[in-house]
Formats: sequence, C-alpha cells, structure tokens
Amino acid sequence: MQKTFIGCAPVNFRVGRPPGFKPEAIVIHIGEGSLRSIDQQFNDPNSKVSAHYCVAKSGVIHQYVHETDTAFHAGTVDRPSWPLIKRGQKPDTFINPNFYTIGIEHEGFADDQWPETQLDTSAALVNEIAQRWEIDLDEEHVIRHHQIRFAKSCPGHVIKISDILERIEPAGTNGPPAVRTVKTISNLRLRKGAPSLLAPFDRTIPAQTLVSVSDVVQGDAVNGNNKWYSDGMGNFLWAGGTDQPNP
Ligand SMILES: [Zn+2]
Repeated sequence: MQKTFIGCAPVNFRVGRPPGFKPEAIVIHIGEGSLRSIDQQFNDPNSKVSAHYCVAKSGVIHQYVHETDTAFHAGTVDRPSWPLIKRGQKPDTFINPNFYTIGIEHEGFADDQWPETQLDTSAALVNEIAQRWEIDLDEEHVIRHHQIRFAKSCPGHVIKISDILERIEPAGTNGPPAVRTVKTISNLRLRKGAPSLLAPFDRTIPAQTLVSVSDVVQGDAVNGNNKWYSDGMGNFLWAGGTDQPNP
C-alpha cells in the first residue's frame, strides 16, 4: 500500500514508545481540514500534535510518524468510554493513550460524508496495521477519538467505525479477499478450474444473486464477450451474465 512519508516537527512526537508499550489499538480521527492543512499543522512546532497517518479523500496516504514512535493524537483523557483504556495507579488517572495506540487522521470535516475511496483506503490501512501488530479488528480495538476525549466529537457523527470494519474481509483460509461484488442477471453456471463452457460445474447461481469476485480473466467468448470473473478459489463466472458485463 502506497504511503508518502511527510514527517512532522520534532517536538510534535516522541521517538520510540515507553518500555513495555506497543500499538494495541487504532484511533480514528477527523482532521477538520484539508490534507495540506494537516501536513502544515503537524509540521508546525507550536501545534504540539501529530498522528501516524492521514487518509485523504482521494485515497492518498500521508505518514508523519513511524508506528514504532509515539504520535501526539489522543493524549488528553476526558470522561473516557473506551472499555480497554489503561488506568494509572492512582484513582481517576490514566496512562497516556498515545503510548499504546496508532492515530489515523482523515481529511475533511466532522459533518462530511466520507467518499468511498477514503473509506476503502482507511479500511486497507487499518487492516495492514492490525495484521502488523496483531490488533483485533473490532470496535474495542479500532475506536473513535471521542471514546478517549468525550468533549471532542471526533471523528464526527457521520462516520461509524463499522463503516470501516465492514470493508475488511475476515482473514482466513478462503483465498484472497474479494475486491468487488457483481450481481447475476440470469441463471449462471459457476465453472470449476477454467473460464470455459467446457469446464465442469457443480452449481448454478440464480439470477439476482450478489457474488464476490476478486479478478477478471479472459476465457471462452460467449455472445462476443470473453470476460470471466474469478473468485480466487478456482471458480469462474461469465461476466456477460452479470450486471457488470464489461469489467
Ligand atoms: Zn481526533
């Protein structure tokens, strides 16, 4: 996944994490500005804030702080509702959440509808980070900034964490993740082993069924269309029988 490392002002992050701390959760933020303004804010030594990443509406990713370093994105704890927040030894004290989280900013404002590209990119980034640090992909480990700092609505009222998580295919043995969904417009045979009318099939998919597919390949031409969808598990579906006949 492509990222551009921008960096930030040296006083806006801490090199490394305190001994014994590593990323255990991902905090989702809205930047209240453009990608450019967020770049500037994190490079302004007076701002005293940073995040590890910002995902633009275009899907561009900027990185400011390495994941092994501590970004300053969620250090203020105010009436937290996050069940996994780490408490200090004295009552009503907390360990700085920056020590054990990764912060992802998003270009835009609290009331914006996030574009599909931004959501998809954010989901892919969250998934990549989660795999790297063995962070569970659920709403206790991918959280809203508001759950740490009550007075901030961040990341706003439009976006739900589930909007991001539901775009991530569960990891498992089911082959590569599907990249799109097509709908059959007629009853279609799911061919095994090859994109060919001569290939065997063991089931027919009824019309109006949503099917997850991961790839497009060329195979036998039917009515002049030789495009077939693959599900990544050795099964093929003629594209001409779907609502996306010319991928
Ligand atoms: Zn925030």
